Amino acid sequence: GSSVDVDPGVEIDESIAEDDLLGGLQIESTADIEVPDRLVDQVIGQDEARDIIIKAAKQRRHVMMIGSPGTGKSMLAKAMSQLLPREDLQDVLVYHNPDDGNEPKVRTVPAGKGEQIIDAHKEEARKRNQMRSILMWIIIAIVIGYTILSGASPLLGIIAAVVIWLFFRYTSRGTDAMVPNMIVDNSDQRTAPFEDATGAHAGALLGDVRHDPFQSGGMETPSHDRVEPGGIHKSNKGVLFVDEINTLDVRTQQKLMTAIQEGEFAITGQSERSSGAMVQTEPVPCDFVMVAAGNMDAMENMHPALRSRIKGYGYEVYMDDTIEETPEMRRKYVRFIAQEIERDGRLPHFNREAAKEVILEAKRRAGRKDHLSLLMRELGGLVRVAGDIARADDREFTNREDVLQAKDRSRSIEQQLADDYIERRKDYELQVTEDGVEGRVNGLAVMGQDSGIMLPVMAEIAPAQGPGQVIATGQLKEMAEESVQNVSAIIKKFSDVNLSEKDVHIQFVQAGQQGVDGDSASITVATAVISALEDIPVDQTVAMTGSLSVRGDVLPVGGVTHKIEAAAKAGCDKVIIPETNEQDVMIEDEYEDMIEIIPCSNISEVLEVALIGQPEKDSLLNRLKQITESAFDPQVSQ
Ligand code: ADP
Repeated sequence: GSSVDVDPGVEIDESIAEDDLLGGLQIESTADIEVPDRLVDQVIGQDEARDIIIKAAKQRRHVMMIGSPGTGKSMLAKAMSQLLPREDLQDVLVYHNPDDGNEPKVRTVPAGKGEQIIDAHKEEARKRNQMRSILMWIIIAIVIGYTILSGASPLLGIIAAVVIWLFFRYTSRGTDAMVPNMIVDNSDQRTAPFEDATGAHAGALLGDVRHDPFQSGGMETPSHDRVEPGGIHKSNKGVLFVDEINTLDVRTQQKLMTAIQEGEFAITGQSERSSGAMVQTEPVPCDFVMVAAGNMDAMENMHPALRSRIKGYGYEVYMDDTIEETPEMRRKYVRFIAQEIERDGRLPHFNREAAKEVILEAKRRAGRKDHLSLLMRELGGLVRVAGDIARADDREFTNREDVLQAKDRSRSIEQQLADDYIERRKDYELQVTEDGVEGRVNGLAVMGQDSGIMLPVMAEIAPAQGPGQVIATGQLKEMAEESVQNVSAIIKKFSDVNLSEKDVHIQFVQAGQQGVDGDSASITVATAVISALEDIPVDQTVAMTGSLSVRGDVLPVGGVTHKIEAAAKAGCDKVIIPETNEQDVMIEDEYEDMIEIIPCSNISEVLEVALIGQPEKDSLLNRLKQITESAFDPQVSQ
């Protein structure tokens, strides 16, 4: 890859690198690894996005990043701002316009110059005020002196003095109006600005003019002092980052497009009925590079003109969710731990075993053979929770035990629900039994993104009164209907029973759970239906997942790793998965001895494993096998 390898100061033992989870790094702990200074060098994976960011920074092009949350989109946008030239930076000042108080003037000066100008104006105003106050006291002295000399009442003198004082105070506002308002100050900026405008409302993005409750009568704040810059102005000569860009309302997206086209955008009050809406400045520069981000959905829903604008003048890049696992990549993940610890600033570094556990988790979360997960925000969360545990104990290093504990603590809500659910079901003895049961199959489903759950399915077949129906309840009805349809095509081939003349009842035992995704349970339904139809019991120590084609092929499904773990937790001895999913299995060591994984490619293989009770089973399988060659061969069956 093009991104930098881990710190060259650390020794690598190449002879063990291939098999070592740390890629052969000869370190005691992550403290031995130096973190690169530039953000762009800290990015793990995402080579394509990284190259594009570097190129786009040189050419000042916009970039659109499409991908999952926590893969480094905002990190790359920030990295881009560090690559833009600092020399171009400007300060922006807003001045009172003596000709039209509602149209403040705008001046742009090189960064750092703004402060000097403000100081000079303040100094001038201070001097002027000083002169005025000297003048005021002289006048007061004269008036009081005169009243005393002329023998008039001293009260008159005091009243006159107060009137004079009020007059001077009141008119001094005129001198405040001389001092400009610096809305963009880049004097301390060491890199080009980076503005994150994710979820910003119109005012925060496009600038605003505050409402003035004292609109008249000399008490008002001059309009130029009420002008506030938006993200588009603050990111002038830098990067404007907008995640979930589709959540900006359409009018705001339109204005954003105008800003991109013109490179400058006047500031006006955003709330229509406030006094700010009467004010509109001269155009304020907003020459930013835009990095728009989101998932595929966000991109499709964003204003088409804005999208084509960015696309036409820039790059579009996809973020990866996983990356191929190589010794070099593992070393970078070790560096990632060091990076996250440095960024946090308080966590104890990870010792070797702890670092290995994090990398194992990255492998596991990838859900794909020989890959590592690039959902780095989540992985960073794991690092922080583990580090916090070690820190609470005042330990010098974070160890493996801390990481394991952190994993348990940072279980997602779905995982906690699923665990809780399994616990509760134990009470109802819905768990695995040793006996075979007709028409009942242990299916497996995914809750949320990262939790498996066992979901038993029961099928019952009854003669239909009219045309046969599939009777199922809840959100899984559609899936049940489809499965039954597919399985009836298969059943026709080996049995006299016409399923379309029967009512097929499908019940998902205790599936009242929210967020259960059952779309991949069709071999489960098929097995339950065949078992019920042929009166052959199903082995209850077996769980299964897989999709079924009309031809009886077992098709791949998602979330196999989590499903297998759920089956093991529930106490099953065997679990059937699609053969095509075999390479996605990445279960934790603790489950490996608990459960046997049986890959199947065909429904007859599934039944072979799941059904019990000779001789009925053998007879069924024989019939099935006879038709396998013909019926499951697409050419013949069509
Ligand atoms: P996104 O914008 O894609 O949602 P972020 O850039 O905000 O994700 O990532 C959050 C944090 O996760 C970053 O600040 C960084 O610590 C870490 N991170 C994310 N992606 C990467 C990556 N590719 N390499 C290194 N760290 C990353």
